[in-house]
Amino acid sequence: MQSTYYLGLVVVSLAVATLASYTALDLAGRISTMASARLRHLWLAGGAAAMGTGIWSMHFIGMLAFSLPIPLGYDFAITSYSLIIAMIVSYFALVQVARPTLSARRLVTGGLLMGFGIAGMHYTGMAAMQMQPGIHYRPGLFAASVAIAIAASMAALWIAHTLRDSRQHRVLIKRIGAACVMGIAITGMHYTGMAAADFLPGSVCGAARGVNAQWLATTIILFTFVILIVTLILSRFDAHTTFLAGSVSSLNNQIVRLATYDTLTDLPNRRTLNEHIERAIHASKQTRRGFAILFMDLDGFKTINDSLGHAFGDEVLKSFAQHLRQCVRNVDTVARLGGDEFVVLAENIGAPRDAERMAEAVLERMREGISTQSQMLQIMPSIGIALYPQDGSSVDELLKHADAAMYEAKRGGRSTYRFFEAHMNEAAMRTLKIQSALHEALGKGYFSLHFQPKFRGDSGAVAGAEALIRLNHPEIGVLPPMDFIPIAERSGQVVEIGYWVVRETCRQIRRWESAGLPSMKIAINLSPRQMAQPDLVAKILEIVHAEGVDCNQIMFEITETVAMQDAAKTTEMIREFQNSGFEISIDDFGTGYSSLAYLQRFRVKQLKIDRFFTSGLDADGHEGSAIVQAIIALAHSLEMDVVAEGVETASQLDKLKDLQCDEMQGFLLGKPLTADAFSELLQERMPTT
Ligand code: C2E
Ligand code: CA
Ligand code: CA
Repeated sequence: MQSTYYLGLVVVSLAVATLASYTALDLAGRISTMASARLRHLWLAGGAAAMGTGIWSMHFIGMLAFSLPIPLGYDFAITSYSLIIAMIVSYFALVQVARPTLSARRLVTGGLLMGFGIAGMHYTGMAAMQMQPGIHYRPGLFAASVAIAIAASMAALWIAHTLRDSRQHRVLIKRIGAACVMGIAITGMHYTGMAAADFLPGSVCGAARGVNAQWLATTIILFTFVILIVTLILSRFDAHTTFLAGSVSSLNNQIVRLATYDTLTDLPNRRTLNEHIERAIHASKQTRRGFAILFMDLDGFKTINDSLGHAFGDEVLKSFAQHLRQCVRNVDTVARLGGDEFVVLAENIGAPRDAERMAEAVLERMREGISTQSQMLQIMPSIGIALYPQDGSSVDELLKHADAAMYEAKRGGRSTYRFFEAHMNEAAMRTLKIQSALHEALGKGYFSLHFQPKFRGDSGAVAGAEALIRLNHPEIGVLPPMDFIPIAERSGQVVEIGYWVVRETCRQIRRWESAGLPSMKIAINLSPRQMAQPDLVAKILEIVHAEGVDCNQIMFEITETVAMQDAAKTTEMIREFQNSGFEISIDDFGTGYSSLAYLQRFRVKQLKIDRFFTSGLDADGHEGSAIVQAIIALAHSLEMDVVAEGVETASQLDKLKDLQCDEMQGFLLGKPLTADAFSELLQERMPTT
């Protein structure tokens, strides 16, 4: 019997096959990334239904495009079986494709099963026509159609599997291309199968007078497109929400990590450490085994950071963290508290000797040197050890005591360790007290300035004074700067305190002025933290101008060690001070390692020889004076004035005069005085008219 095809429907069948293939590719990508098993099953089932409908309707539309000179129809039940077969095949295909790996064996068996499935669907669908006598199939073309179905299935499985990762380059174009190829293969299989069918003359369609073919075709086409497109949209929408949910959860992970880990070293931070110690205390109560806290602070890290830059400082911290982790057991917690402070929590410590061994191991390892990205270097910690339960019962107490022990280790020569002892607590308590005193000192007016006179070497006249700060606390008493400036330096409060010193000095200068006393230069000390302020000079200028004082009445003292840390920056800052009309003095000269080249470049007015050399004038006989003589000669050749600090004996004074030291300062000549006492001194020395 001669058969004909309605071309329009053939094209539509191809379009449906292609769309179904695309849907399959998209779903494969979605399902393979789904974490929830429930969702996965839901999508597999729904996807298989949509895809199955797609493949089946491609086949059915293909059938509707086909016509014989006799009336045709389809048995409903058998047609339904073919739809079910299509869905089962689709389910099977999606499961294969969504697997993380697709081995060659699975590809072949999967392709075979799928191919037979599709062929089965097709020939079941043909059977729905219930032709009498039965359709005769040509063996060659029949075999070819099954082979095409198998080959197309294998190709489809392989393509879908490789394209399931949606993050690859141009995945959309690749999927569209692949869908076209797959669509052609599926359609090809169908029409090959149709070509294999011989309808014997005089055949009658047993299912004729079923449903109207035209109406059926339109309904099925619309229905299929709707199903496939809705599936695609749902898949896209779901992908989008999954993506959003994924972003939110990864953001959340990041936040949790930020809150619990130190970003630089990737070690647990203070908060996490506290939790671990808390847990250790709890566990210790049960197991009755103690634990140790090793508190570490790197020696000289600040100098490295200031002189070699923060980036390098970060490198050092990272490298130290890594090496430290290698020195301890896996069960121990290594945390960074911030800055250059690290803590090891060593649990299940039987005896203090175990903690001691651990500290020794760390020191020994660090002594070998650690490698940063650019170089090897030795950076040593000072370690303080506190043991639970003997050294404290709470997290705070244990950390505080380990910290106090660490300070003792620093005081004991650094690069060593100390166990906590009760007396250290007093020192730590005092530090805490001073810290809180500093918080209220500016507001409550606890600070005061003393002034120590400087005298001319030749005439003995008062040449000026140095402003020295004191803290007068109602409970702690009067504190010398050495007791609180280092603490304020650590906390940063020294910056505000420094501005207070400048303001108070200006006010005092005005008071002396209005009392009719002779004007003179007052020296103000600057600390490293102040020197690090980029707007230091501008701020000081503002204060001095506001107080109505002339800049040339004030000079600033910068210690040699600080000046040399970043000599280039210091030079710049000195220049800025000088341009504003202030003079600069290099303080504690001889204690740092000045490069003479820089000393020359600083071009400062004054050099203050450290007290150490002044006392050397007495102790070391000739050698002592030779050094002082050399310094004075050097300073004079650079056109600087020399001030000798800490002059305590008459013999020192005589020798300094002999060596032509320009100015002297010391207890022998004048101790630091209150402003009033200093006024009296000036009054006494005023020439009586
Ligand atoms: P410095 O700049 O070397 O100040 C001189 C210190 O030597 C003063 O100690 C002074 O009292 C002491 N001194 C003076 N003559 C003699 C002597 O003949 N023998 C002995 N043994 N000592 C003498 P002070 O006031 O305790 O100050 C200590 C340090 O505190 C100062 O050392 C300075 O570096 C720092 N400082 C003082 N005031 C300030 C301030 O306002 N700001 C900053 N940043 N630091 C300050
Ligand atoms: Ca000074
Ligand atoms: Ca000094």
